[in-house]
Amino acid sequence: MIRGTTQVLGVIGYPIEHSLSPIMHNAAIATLGVDYAYLPFAIAPHDLPTAVAGLWALGVQGFNVTIPHKQAIMPLLHEISPVAQAIGAVNTVYRTATGWGGTNTDAIGFLAPLKAMPRNWSTAHAVILGNGGAARAVVAGCAQLGCESITVVGRDAAKLNAFLHSWSDPHIAQRLSVKPWEALPTLLREATLLVNTTPVGMHPHDTDSPITDEEATLVPAGAIAYDLIYTPRPTRFLRQIQGATTLDGLEMLVQQGAAALELWLQQPVPVDVMRRSLEAHLSR
Ligand code: NAP
Repeated sequence: MIRGTTQVLGVIGYPIEHSLSPIMHNAAIATLGVDYAYLPFAIAPHDLPTAVAGLWALGVQGFNVTIPHKQAIMPLLHEISPVAQAIGAVNTVYRTATGWGGTNTDAIGFLAPLKAMPRNWSTAHAVILGNGGAARAVVAGCAQLGCESITVVGRDAAKLNAFLHSWSDPHIAQRLSVKPWEALPTLLREATLLVNTTPVGMHPHDTDSPITDEEATLVPAGAIAYDLIYTPRPTRFLRQIQGATTLDGLEMLVQQGAAALELWLQQPVPVDVMRRSLEAHLSR
């Protein structure tokens, strides 16, 4: 129930109607019985500075940030965590004594299902398809796992080059390389962890995949195929790769949200409730 004492959390983006965050956060809030509500805010890019100041003035306790504001919000924050600085994007904003602070929980979300798998990550070769925003969190996550090599595959040489040179953390930079799409067959043969960070195969384009059927046969048995997409479940990409352990993007979505809610509430949150609320919503 919303009362005079209810504290507000939320998510800003443009558009925002598609966001699943209100569903999972409000499910967790209801289970915990805490006096909070999580709301969606559609904020056009030119309104961002006014809106961020307004959210502060309104006493909003914290908010998530989604497309197109993840980078644009950074100059408006008073502090930015090292992980958000490394990734170059903020997805979670919290109050500090002097102004908004920002962090990024996407790498935590990406890593959560991988950490549950016993592997010798120090010999792992990660191959990442796509070089957009999500790929940055995936690269940071793979470096945190300690992967021996991290190769980002993209279709635009200039963007790939900019991506390669955008990392200042030597722990990341020294294991990262970029390759054009044509190098994929060679890379797939060596891949231990193959991650799709492109939107190819996302609903309603369910029959698309970033790789061909022939390329899929090159992925070694025992590799992990990870698609950040969570609709459809499974994607064509995950169905193509035989003999691999497969992961879709739902757990990443849930875990990045759980990490944000834990930060705001400063208490453990019911991750299973958040997961089930999204599964129920997506299966409708
Ligand atoms: P983005 O910044 O737009 O990046 C998309 C990347 O995919 C770009 O590098 C783009 O290449 C590449 N790409 C697009 N179409 C392609 C094609 N036909 N062939 C090859 N490459 C192509 O998007 P994003 O924010 O990183 O999100 C990417 C995907 O991850 C989306 O499906 C999103 O839903 C998903 N995601 C999931 C989670 C989760 O929690 N599960 C979190 C974040 C994102 P160019 O740069 O050359 O255009």
